[in-house]
Amino acid sequence: MSLMRDINRAGFRPWYETQLAAGFGFVALGLILIVAGAAFLEVWLGHANVLNDLIYAGSSFICLGSGGYCWIKAAERIGAAEHLAQQATCKACKAYGRLELVSEEHLPQVCQMKASCRRCRHLWQLEI
Ligand SMILES: [Zn+2]
Repeated sequence: MSLMRDINRAGFRPWYETQLAAGFGFVALGLILIVAGAAFLEVWLGHANVLNDLIYAGSSFICLGSGGYCWIKAAERIGAAEHLAQQATCKACKAYGRLELVSEEHLPQVCQMKASCRRCRHLWQLEI
């Protein structure tokens, strides 16, 4: 997935809104999975049948692990979107989110992008 392609195709604001919606979708899914995992855990601890114990224990670990993974993905998406949103204001004309990415460079710890304002064509650098 190329961030530059995604932002330039839809525009910054729709991309930002999509990232937030997906992030909060992950939060909701993670919450449901963690509640389900806790329910399986409670049932597992109350049973003495070995086969049921394995099923409930496995279901509990899968739900709790998946729920935790969903929350990690949510934090990544929302954090990246918010980090870019803080840099999305043109320094020359103060237009927010009216940018087009003109280059993208992936370094080991950071992705550097050069943005151009759609209103005044001012260039500035974004990092994520
Ligand atoms: Zn501008």
